[in-house]
Amino acid sequence: MSMQRKQLKRIVASGAASLLLSGAIAQQPTGDYPIQPVAFTQVHLTDNFWRPRLETNANVTIPYILQKCREEGRINNFLIAAGKKKGKLTAFPFDDTDLYKLLEGASYSLQEKYDAKLDREMDTLIQIIGDAQEPDGYLYTFRTAHVDKPHEWIGSKRWEKDEELSHELYNCGHLYESAVAHYEATGKRTFLNIAIKNADLLVKTFGPDKLHIYPGHQIVELGLVKMYRVTGKKEYLDLAKFFLDVRGPGGDAYNQADKKVVDQNEAEGHAVRATYMYTGMADVAALTGDEGYLHAIDTIWNNVADKKLYITGGIGATGNGEAFGANYDLPNMSAYAETCAAIANVYWNLRMFLLHGDAKYMDVLERTLYNGLLSGISLSGNRFFYPNPLASVGQHQRSAWFSCACCITNMTRFLPSMPGYIYAQDKNDLFVNLFVSNNATIKLPAADVKLTQQTDYPWQGKVNITVEPTKSTAFALHIRIPGWAADKPIPSDLYSFISTIKPAIPIYLNGKQIDYTTDKGYAVLNRTWKKGDKITVDFPMQVEKVTAIDSVKADKGRFALQRGPIVYCLEGTDQKDSTVQSIVIDTTAAINAVYKPDILNGITTLTTQGYIATKVPKADNALSAKQTITAIPYYSWNNRGSGEMEVWIPYTAEVARPKPSPTIASKAKVTSSARSKLMVKAVNDQFEPADSKDQSTNYLHWWPAKDTTEWVQYDFDKAYTISQSKVYWYDDKPWGGCDLPASWQLLYKKGDEWVPVKNTTEYEIAKDKYDAVQFEPVTTTALRLVVQLPKNDATGIHEWIVE
Ligand SMILES: [Zn+2]
Repeated sequence: MSMQRKQLKRIVASGAASLLLSGAIAQQPTGDYPIQPVAFTQVHLTDNFWRPRLETNANVTIPYILQKCREEGRINNFLIAAGKKKGKLTAFPFDDTDLYKLLEGASYSLQEKYDAKLDREMDTLIQIIGDAQEPDGYLYTFRTAHVDKPHEWIGSKRWEKDEELSHELYNCGHLYESAVAHYEATGKRTFLNIAIKNADLLVKTFGPDKLHIYPGHQIVELGLVKMYRVTGKKEYLDLAKFFLDVRGPGGDAYNQADKKVVDQNEAEGHAVRATYMYTGMADVAALTGDEGYLHAIDTIWNNVADKKLYITGGIGATGNGEAFGANYDLPNMSAYAETCAAIANVYWNLRMFLLHGDAKYMDVLERTLYNGLLSGISLSGNRFFYPNPLASVGQHQRSAWFSCACCITNMTRFLPSMPGYIYAQDKNDLFVNLFVSNNATIKLPAADVKLTQQTDYPWQGKVNITVEPTKSTAFALHIRIPGWAADKPIPSDLYSFISTIKPAIPIYLNGKQIDYTTDKGYAVLNRTWKKGDKITVDFPMQVEKVTAIDSVKADKGRFALQRGPIVYCLEGTDQKDSTVQSIVIDTTAAINAVYKPDILNGITTLTTQGYIATKVPKADNALSAKQTITAIPYYSWNNRGSGEMEVWIPYTAEVARPKPSPTIASKAKVTSSARSKLMVKAVNDQFEPADSKDQSTNYLHWWPAKDTTEWVQYDFDKAYTISQSKVYWYDDKPWGGCDLPASWQLLYKKGDEWVPVKNTTEYEIAKDKYDAVQFEPVTTTALRLVVQLPKNDATGIHEWIVE
């Protein structure tokens, strides 16, 4: 036992440390990423932006999630599987991963600040997990629990339905990541041994001359690479590669199984699965030198950067299959941009940087980190977004929990590792990728170097870096010049700045401005450094107006505001009348940036003068007198209650959405049999869809139900006499799950009864228009629309009008 432990320690110390985990990297392992990140354990934050977020994660989020995992049966699943408790399992076979991700986050957090109580609690949880493991290493509570009625996603045999939905291998992947983190944090082998036993079972089960099954939801590839790095067992790396190579062709694009991974050239299907897979491909490519993988992920990365990336760094535009949309299809209000996908995008872009050493990957990483990822968690640390939309009419609200809690536990495991993204090294080349006040100790072959950053980034552009090598030493400091400070919001033509005037970025060495050359987006300072050398970089923090390429229809006639790495939004709370969708701002408007320490834990707000578009009957939108408009950082929205929000601001009145005059429907209270109670607001929001499949406006839907009878109901503010109604159906066939209804009918409230209206025309059913029905006038206080879903699909409603 102790021998093994020693051996493991040696492997870690010799450089095979798992990516971003603790352990000094003394030398480059042969056949690995040419560049290695400086582990987060060597970087200590001293700033006022990230450090408080990490502290909230440790003090609020981790205990909160632990409590929720208890309440929501996540821990019971293991106790039931171990035969120590009776009861019902939770909703999803992947629920085991919430506990794994919690333990991973807690392990990372422990390394930043040791907490004996948490350490002991983790020991208990690991014991519970171990008790649920079958003797041969199999660990999957939903099968081991032997329930009378197994979950419909599970086959009768192990792994049988993994390519579909069983998530057995997905659970293994998160188990490995967590166990490795725990081992690195505590040196204890308890959890790692459970993972090794499980991974050995996979090695025995899958392979070229064994079972051929590809993981339905990728991540086991990444987990196996981490297991390889910490144990040195090459079978784990081989199996990671096997799981990639056995994928496709002939499967679904939904989980990237329609083609061999090396033949894939476009980001498609479920965004989290896809991006974990690209990340795994990068890891395996780095370790094996596989050119086919490299070519594929380079091509796919370009596809995302050119056509599928939100200005917030979010990816996966559509909720339909939680997937990447078509090229340039980036709707704002219905943007899915799952928090997990943002986290995956950070994982992937780090790897791309480690492979290529180009700052453009860190540009995407930084954009995602400060915007579309950070928006996933409230400032309080206990409310969460699953999708991260770029516009809202108040239907969005962070939740305390989700029955599918992936995003919550992913956030808590990601945040403590954030300091690991700041620095990287390639022999004596030292990269400064992110700007955050911190102290770091970095071992270069030439010498140990202490780096101290002092900055008020992201609010201020000045960054002071003090360099303290143990002895005067020659090495190259590569300081990233962010794309936003140079010429492009992101490294492609997808977005551009309206202003083309870019101030120079001065760099000072010990107070004197110096000339520098740039390479792959970095200012390279190659010299002999001595103790106390001080670099100052001054990034220009002017407010930028960003436009999207014409092909992105959703952003036409609009710009987004950005200052430094921060993307802004307008939130209702800050505007007159709490209205956002009707605001119009000129492209030439001067914007004023002011730091406000008392708002939203301290933010820089932007103010300007804009207009409100107002509807004039049968005329183009008219504009109000000028009024003050305030923008806040996108990540900080929805911390003051739900309300309107918008990232892309109209600069022409035509694309603004004036507040419509009230109607019978708009004043009504809406209820529905639909799952989401917030979604019902869509049917009377008076946003006209362009066509039935339009995702840029909100819609109510009953997906994934099919062949059921559903309803939506208006309770009016008083009795009205009505005789006509119109419905605009949401229909996203052929790629989506919503079709036109099989039939529909209107009932009105007569006393306590629901009575069908006597229709005088047919109930129309057609797409891309309002379908009307006329009926004998009724005077009523409530109307109910009853919808019969088609045999094989759901149905949705954009808008429902009553006249
Ligand atoms: Zn998620």
